[in-house]
Amino acid sequence: MNLPPADLPSSRLKRRGLMLVISSPSGAGKSTIARNLLENDNGLSLSVSVTTRPRRGSEIEGVHYHFKSQREFDGMRDSEALLEWAEVHGNCYGTPRESAEVAMAEGRDMLFDIDWQGAQQLQEKMSADVVSIFILPPSMEELRARLQRRAEDADDVIERRLANARSEIEHWREYDYVVINDDLDRAYSAVRSIVQAERLRRDRRPGLFDFVAGLLGE
Ligand code: 5GP
Repeated sequence: MNLPPADLPSSRLKRRGLMLVISSPSGAGKSTIARNLLENDNGLSLSVSVTTRPRRGSEIEGVHYHFKSQREFDGMRDSEALLEWAEVHGNCYGTPRESAEVAMAEGRDMLFDIDWQGAQQLQEKMSADVVSIFILPPSMEELRARLQRRAEDADDVIERRLANARSEIEHWREYDYVVINDDLDRAYSAVRSIVQAERLRRDRRPGLFDFVAGLLGE
């Protein structure tokens, strides 16, 4: 089911694009929440990152990531084609600049599934457009169980991800919103409410000046 327009007349007015940044340690449910959001909200598209990480079996080139060699990645980074980039779990990840800038310019909202380093860089560069959400697992035991159930990574990779989870979680204070994912439906609906509320913010909607002037017959 698609989200209803936030409020009818004003939803047609020109609005700045929203950069919705979602971070969490792997296994906290971020990808599922992001997928549900994208399926249910036509106004939101995913920023597809580039990465040097090998493709997992279930992943599709161009849908989940653009998979690159280290040389290709370095070339994009050096030619300023990345809006932000970071090394995560020993691989490089980055946000392509062009697709994000086009979306913002056209007033389209974009979802960024990136880590705390990327969130920090986007917040520094485009703070007015960024809304950041951190997803926390209910416990470290549950996080380990989720990573093992996913069974897409080798054991040593899971151990590395768990060790990294602690340092990722330490950055929770740098985010605008924090959602604890103890129940997927509840966490999803909390994130959806954040998006709906942020779209209604007065300072994101320059078109309101004309709307209100028309309303008042000025
Ligand atoms: P995974 O390998 O599990 O797909 O992703 C590992 C981590 O890298 C996740 O926390 C994910 O959010 C982060 N990540 C994915 N793409 C980007 C990106 O473009 N930039 C940054 N900074 N982090 C990313």
